[in-house]
Amino acid sequence: MEVFKGIPVSSGVVIGSIFTLDDERRRIPRRTVRAAHVEREHARLRKALADSIAELEATRERAEESLGVEPAKVFAFHLGMLRDPTVIQPIHDMIESERVTAEYAVSTEFRRLASMLSGMDDAFKTKVDDVWDLDRRVLRQLIGEHMSALREMHEKAIVVAPDLTPTQTASFDRNKVIGFATDAGGRTSHTAIMARAIGIPAVVGLGDLSGSAQDGAAVIVDGDRGIVIVNPDAETLEQHRTYNERMRVFRASLSEDVDRPAETSDGVRISLLGNIEFPEEAASVVRYGGDGVGLFRTEFVYLTQEKEPSEEQQFEAYGRAIENLGGKPMTVRTFDLGSDKQTQERAEAPERNPALGCRSIRYCLQNIPMFKRQLRAILRASALGPLRVMFPLVTDALELRQAKMLLTDVKEDLEEDGVAFDRNLPVGIMVETPAAAVMASTFARDVDFFSIGTNDLVQFTLAVDRTNERVASLFSAAHPAINRLIKDVVRTARKHKIEVSVCGEAAGEPEFTMLLIGLGLRSLSVTPSSIPAIKRIVRSVDVPQCERLARRVGSFDSERQVTAFLREQAREIIPEAFDGRSVD
Ligand code: PEP
Ligand code: MG
Repeated sequence: MEVFKGIPVSSGVVIGSIFTLDDERRRIPRRTVRAAHVEREHARLRKALADSIAELEATRERAEESLGVEPAKVFAFHLGMLRDPTVIQPIHDMIESERVTAEYAVSTEFRRLASMLSGMDDAFKTKVDDVWDLDRRVLRQLIGEHMSALREMHEKAIVVAPDLTPTQTASFDRNKVIGFATDAGGRTSHTAIMARAIGIPAVVGLGDLSGSAQDGAAVIVDGDRGIVIVNPDAETLEQHRTYNERMRVFRASLSEDVDRPAETSDGVRISLLGNIEFPEEAASVVRYGGDGVGLFRTEFVYLTQEKEPSEEQQFEAYGRAIENLGGKPMTVRTFDLGSDKQTQERAEAPERNPALGCRSIRYCLQNIPMFKRQLRAILRASALGPLRVMFPLVTDALELRQAKMLLTDVKEDLEEDGVAFDRNLPVGIMVETPAAAVMASTFARDVDFFSIGTNDLVQFTLAVDRTNERVASLFSAAHPAINRLIKDVVRTARKHKIEVSVCGEAAGEPEFTMLLIGLGLRSLSVTPSSIPAIKRIVRSVDVPQCERLARRVGSFDSERQVTAFLREQAREIIPEAFDGRSVD
């Protein structure tokens, strides 16, 4: 039995067998296979080489037709390499002698070849890029073939990978993949958010789990405590089964409040909304007893297909969500693309600092036809039910005015075309950068509402990458700086009589509920499955009690003090939510 400690990102405990998943763009971990599976790895390599050769032959023919014989010669070199026994035999030898996966043997041998060529004359050095190109091509075949094995698998799988993108996670077949565990990642990364959206337990930031994982080995993923246990013994399995049963009883008890309002014991109504990525999730917001959708991350409609969805596809997606909500309101956020949410077109050319790069509203303002198509779809959907629109990552007043101007343009076009829409569609911004928080009074004059995004607000205020496991312990919405910013934004919103809510992950964590109410928030938007637990807290407290707690938190000067205090308070109200979670 081997125990790995990581970061819990999606709750629940699952027991299943490991399915490893590599990524040709990352370093392939050294992974061994059982003696009985060595022949299978040789066969996989032979097939991947044959498929790569067939692919290259076809590309060469196409290049010859369109570009002529000379430029197409580059493919002759690639083909020659893949047919050269002095290149290929060492890969087979490595599989045989070290009993490693075909992926690892390919990546190691090609790396050795590339480093050998880079130490030679200039004529050879130019071939280094060709070797990397080939390495990626063969690995893509191997990984693609392995993924199809997942589709054909009969047992339930737990995916173990160095890292996963939000798009990969979104594309998992939920009938096959029951959980995942990765070496990298952070609690508010979009991969983690996606795991919570599809409701599969997950742990990230596990160091080198993927290097020592073997396909088919038994594993427990404990998404509540952040633990992964490989080859668990009978006693450990039993403990986890008992824990699961306890949690099932707890969830059943929470579901008693589904039809009751999220109202404090002194009668103050809190609007409890859901964050969604796909239209179907709107139905689960209603099922969990939510009041509507506070954040529709529309970029996921884009990320799960190869190119930009058409206006019609978008209109259809927003319309479906509205229909699923049966009259409850929905806030649609315009495409928040970039950072860790790369479209397939842009994934090949990564930016140096993507979190600080051409993303979100900046990207939309640089791609106006795309942006207008989305605004048109949103406006058209506003005729179908109560809708609001908001812009992500706004940092500058001019940016907001440009976005609003485009919205006005689109409204005029629709008017001319005689298409129905809500002329008073409320417009808001995400307050998720220190710039927006500090300048809240400027923005408040131009918008109908604020939605505080604590995920990015923490990332930028504390200078902590939300996807980096190495600094995960520094990523905390309990930091006094965040507390102060939220307090100021709420105060400004009240002064300007505009609505304010919180839609970052902190809003869905039980320890923050009392603090946020105490800071004056009356609207929270959370992962749909968190709604019942947050509602339980709301219904168990009164506003003066929350205000006292917020004042006390305001007197602390360290994140650690705030976290310990908030957990202790929340644990008294809803101990089961902390069952098994360590205090620190
Ligand atoms: C946030 O930044 O807090 C937020 C809600 O948006 P996202 O997680 O999609 O960046
Ligand atoms: Mg954000």
